Amino acid sequence: MKRVALLALIALLPAAGVTANALHSEWLDRSANPLQDFFQYANGGFLRDNPIPAAYSSWGQFQILNQQNQDFIHELLQAAAADKAAAPGSDTQKVGNFYASGMDETAAERAGIRPLAGELTRIGALRRPAQLTDALARLQSLGVDALFGIGQMQDFADSTRVVGVLQQGGLGLPDRDYYLKDDPKYAAIRKAYEEHIARMLVLLGDATPRATAAAREVMALETRLAGATMPVEQRRDPHAIFHMTDLAGLAKAAPSIAWPQFLAAVGAPPLERINLAMPDFFAAASKEIDSTPVPVWRDYLRWHLVHEYAPFLSKAFVGENFKLAQAISGSKELLPRWRRVLNAENGALGFAVGHEFVKHRLPPEARAQVVAILHDVRAALQEDLQTLVWMSDATRAKAIDKLQMIEERIGYPDVWRDYSMLRIDRGSYAGNVMRANLFDNARELAKIGKPVDRSEWVYPPQVVNAYYQPSRNSINFLAGILQPPFFDANAPAAFNYGAIGAVIGHEITHGFDDRGSQFDGHGNLANWWAPEDSEKFKAAVACIAAQYSTYTVDGDLHLKGGLVTGEAIADLGGLLLAYRAFHASPAYASAPTTDGYTPDQQFFLSFARFWAEHMRPEQARAYAAADPHPPGQYRVNGTLANVPQFAEVFGALAQSGGAPAGKRCVIW
Ligand SMILES: [Zn+2]
Repeated sequence: MKRVALLALIALLPAAGVTANALHSEWLDRSANPLQDFFQYANGGFLRDNPIPAAYSSWGQFQILNQQNQDFIHELLQAAAADKAAAPGSDTQKVGNFYASGMDETAAERAGIRPLAGELTRIGALRRPAQLTDALARLQSLGVDALFGIGQMQDFADSTRVVGVLQQGGLGLPDRDYYLKDDPKYAAIRKAYEEHIARMLVLLGDATPRATAAAREVMALETRLAGATMPVEQRRDPHAIFHMTDLAGLAKAAPSIAWPQFLAAVGAPPLERINLAMPDFFAAASKEIDSTPVPVWRDYLRWHLVHEYAPFLSKAFVGENFKLAQAISGSKELLPRWRRVLNAENGALGFAVGHEFVKHRLPPEARAQVVAILHDVRAALQEDLQTLVWMSDATRAKAIDKLQMIEERIGYPDVWRDYSMLRIDRGSYAGNVMRANLFDNARELAKIGKPVDRSEWVYPPQVVNAYYQPSRNSINFLAGILQPPFFDANAPAAFNYGAIGAVIGHEITHGFDDRGSQFDGHGNLANWWAPEDSEKFKAAVACIAAQYSTYTVDGDLHLKGGLVTGEAIADLGGLLLAYRAFHASPAYASAPTTDGYTPDQQFFLSFARFWAEHMRPEQARAYAAADPHPPGQYRVNGTLANVPQFAEVFGALAQSGGAPAGKRCVIW
């Protein structure tokens, strides 16, 4: 929902040729029993030698690659900023201007609160609940998380069409649990949050007693909204978040908002129906608009405005904003300014930056090698589906159809995003971010009612990530992740199949996880399962959910099994597919044993390696509350607990004791 801030992750490539020591024996911890804690066995040395830097809340292979990519992008940004010959209005000029304005700390200091003055005046003029409609529309179009959000999505029922979607929002803490759970650590964060809101209001010019009282009211309002917020596990069910509604239905569900007026003000095209994703939340929000005094709404909106834009203002705001980040994530110091600017720029101009990035960082030969591995992994699933014993032939045929229809996209888009209507200058940094958010909002909402543009990518290519889109039935691998240690054109096959092979298998398996399996090959929400197969699949999903619910972070906080199931299924399926693909590949027969490790052992080491990470306890709690991805430790050990081939391959190396006894979950 958050736009610029959402794309905080950025990635660039290190140079190739890390191959000589692909095994990295110094990363091992041979004192650990591989069958009991393979994560520690494979990564203990690495984690010992790579503690979390002060400016980070977690650290591991993803972050290291991300940092290397940033170092490369940094040079691109500096070069663009220094390029006096860049054509006016060109992407190069915009990229350079954004960076230059972001790095101009003196100008930000001088400007103080001025970049927000116009918005604060509008908010200050609010007198009646009816005026909230326009205020919410204005702030949402600026990327501010004000009460709820509007966006676009592919129609679940007809994936060729784009529809509008209204979603719950408006909370400043990471999840409803932070407001509602009776837990001393969350309670401490609630206190820190309320104090932080008060200090932000003081920075906006309020006297301390007034700000303290206002913060209390804002916190109370957000806590009531949290109570009406649909829990994150429930949101995984596509049926739970899909309620196409006409304007009369909207008026009935949330009468305090003048919907036609709102839709026009936020910049949505005329529409007859929209997905009201969380009806209960909107009913509650509507009641709040009537019952909460307007002065409290003014403070709530001022708070969310400054919360969104503090990172782009003067030091006082940046520093205060970091205090909240610290309470939530545990990080100890701010990132260097250029890395913060770079992250913002990846949000504002991500595809302009990425276009330049891929020219230097993903040669066609490397791309071709990834495609070859991808096709091996795909073939492994085809084979698996043909032989899977628990599935009936009717469902099997549909599953194979879906697999054959998966669209593959590797590296970067063929069509690049057009930024010609976005003005980026060397003036106010916050002003650039505001215009970028307005541009992005208009671009997103303009899609409503139109056919789907299949050339579009969600994330710019420099991001260290890959994704599956259920409504497109597409797998997407960004150039940012097609780098060591995920992929290395010069590394032995065991390493590439264990790493990028497992990543590819992971994304393909998302098409067949608890959520993806509810969409057909065309990307429509449609049940293609025979009832008896569906029951067996649900039982297998429940097995995974139960397994992951037993895992904890920070001592006592359990993972939400229902939330992480999709990722856990994708991890398991992905690893098995990559393993089969490796065995079927021509490279397997001649794969060498290295330092006493067989090719199969190297494969599992490579898999465990890219999940090497450690996390501050605060960050681990934030992820456990709201993120569908389990921590790296469980992505390795939890997955391998369900892989009998692993126990066979590493059994001989276990000094004592076997694999922990337990039920093995079988899906794909
Ligand atoms: Zn995933």
